[in-house]
Amino acid sequence: MLSSLDLIFVVASLTIMATGLARRHRMWKQGRPEALDAVMTLKDGYRILLSIFRNGRFSDNPYGNTAHIFVFWGFLLPFIVIVVSQFRPVAPAWAGQYLSLFLDVLGLFAVVGTCMLLSKRLFRKQPYPGRQPVHLWIFLAILITGFLAEGLRVAITGGAMEGLSALNSPVGYILSWMVPVSPALLKIVVRAHFFLVLAFIAFIPYSNMRHAWASLFGIYYRQGRPEGALAPIELQGEYFGTGAIRDFSWLQLMDSDACMSCGRCDSNCPAHISGKPLMPQGVIREIGRKMEEAFYGKDAPSGKDAGMFNNDGLIGGEDIWACTTCLACVKSCPVFAGHLTDILGLRQYSVLMKSRFPSEYKQLFKNLETFGDAFGAGRVAREDWISGPDMPTPCQDNKAEFLFWAGCTGALYDEVARARTIEAANVLKKAGVGFMVLGKEELCCGDPARRLGNEYLFQRMARRNIDTMTGYGIKKIVTSCPHCFNVFRNEYPQLGGTFEVIHITGLLKDLLNEGRLKVKSKSGSTFTYHDPCYLGRYNNIERQPRDILEMLVEMKEMEFSGDKSLCCGAGGGNFWCGRTTGRRIEEIRIGQAIETGAEGLVTSCPFCEILFDSAVRQKGAEYSFKVMDIVQLVNQLTE
Ligand code: SF4
Ligand code: SF4
Repeated sequence: MLSSLDLIFVVASLTIMATGLARRHRMWKQGRPEALDAVMTLKDGYRILLSIFRNGRFSDNPYGNTAHIFVFWGFLLPFIVIVVSQFRPVAPAWAGQYLSLFLDVLGLFAVVGTCMLLSKRLFRKQPYPGRQPVHLWIFLAILITGFLAEGLRVAITGGAMEGLSALNSPVGYILSWMVPVSPALLKIVVRAHFFLVLAFIAFIPYSNMRHAWASLFGIYYRQGRPEGALAPIELQGEYFGTGAIRDFSWLQLMDSDACMSCGRCDSNCPAHISGKPLMPQGVIREIGRKMEEAFYGKDAPSGKDAGMFNNDGLIGGEDIWACTTCLACVKSCPVFAGHLTDILGLRQYSVLMKSRFPSEYKQLFKNLETFGDAFGAGRVAREDWISGPDMPTPCQDNKAEFLFWAGCTGALYDEVARARTIEAANVLKKAGVGFMVLGKEELCCGDPARRLGNEYLFQRMARRNIDTMTGYGIKKIVTSCPHCFNVFRNEYPQLGGTFEVIHITGLLKDLLNEGRLKVKSKSGSTFTYHDPCYLGRYNNIERQPRDILEMLVEMKEMEFSGDKSLCCGAGGGNFWCGRTTGRRIEEIRIGQAIETGAEGLVTSCPFCEILFDSAVRQKGAEYSFKVMDIVQLVNQLTE
């Protein structure tokens, strides 16, 4: 039971903590408000608790997962027990003994977990250093003094506790052999333990431990919300994107406090692991650094107007352009940080406010503006793929069930890409699916413009496509391109274009299941499947392509597949701007595919196929390792 003086210390510790947390909140509030639900329902509370208790997204990292579970529970449960015990609950003696044993074991696990985290911080190279693990040292000292106090207590009570203590406090019992029988020392250790706990609590907002508080906001506001759809920006204004601290939302600023420096975003980032100058954790932390500078006025006379692009940090150079928008950072972050929204906001500011972007994109933007396609081929060339026999006449049969959307790459990139589009149309015809095509009325869906920050161009193209499709009374769209699919499905509704959008793999699976496509004979060849980011991570379409492939070929999975798939390197405009720094991402991925021992790789995205095909040729493996699109395989093996 605490004395009155102790209570004053407790209140002081809680006040320091509350003051610190309030200051962090004021820092976040330098950002703009965000339209979010203000009221937490019981369901939300349950969702947050479940996420915390399940240890969220750590599960694929056994080391970090184990350490975090040990420390988390090793802190939380004893803390609850200590608080509850202050009210002197009545419990049978045996319950107290079991509780003592339970806390002893938990304490041991907490020591192991804390040492694991400390050794990671001390001995492994941190991708983005800077945060000292002082809170971990304090926590370790709390655990050690706790055990020491228990050992002294057992040593002092001696025979009276013998037998009982060995069972109920095994660690204390062993320590009792090594410590002197000293009530004075016990008193000192207990006080030290008490003050260390208070110091730990007071220190929460000033250390990395603040992630425990800030991450609750990320989990509450972001978990379960669509992660791939970019929010549209109002083009009537005169200022776009995030160029200064005041332009970020408070939730974006909060991310740097929620970040626990686990490094999972960096280790899953294709740009970072291939040697490009981008660290998603660095983006989050750099925004946090600028947020603090703006708050304290340090090195930033213009306060929250201080620019992000001062070229002295991580943000503003090649880094933001190296992002392939693969979403791996966002999906792997245990605190649901929004790295990609940050990067795209910075791109929007750079493009729309400063006209500053890699020179290669100048041509891309010009092509989109002038020709309506990403390759500058022109509207007439869009009909080349349908110029052969048995191909539909553009813009006819608008009573057909589907609009088949070819996309810029499928319609224009090269003969091989066009062949894939023809194969897709053939498969649909074979299965008796009614569809129309837009031919030269089809424009780029706008995805490259949007991912490169040119929101103005995106919205212009998207609105024109929506008008065209609405004009023809289109209800359902099917496409082979995951980028077109994602933008139609998740982003066109923001501009009033609501259609039923299906990726061709979903339709092919149904056609095979319904018997409208029949497998001639299953091939004995073994293939591995590469999940395109915009299908897998963005839209959770991972099962359908595998279901199709299992009907057609033998399958071998890569180590990193599904949600953990490594990007091909094309997304976020990188298809038009091959980066020379570091390794080629597609080569790393092809290496992973070849390692499986499969005879080839199947994908379901034209960009992936083009890059992987080039990577295989680069390796000189084009005769031993095939790269195919799923549509090509379905076309060959079905009737
Ligand atoms: S979206 Fe992908 S490429 Fe971009 S920062 Fe995140 S992990 Fe890296
Ligand atoms: S941003 Fe998320 S994934 Fe990246 S280091 Fe921080 S907590 Fe870990």
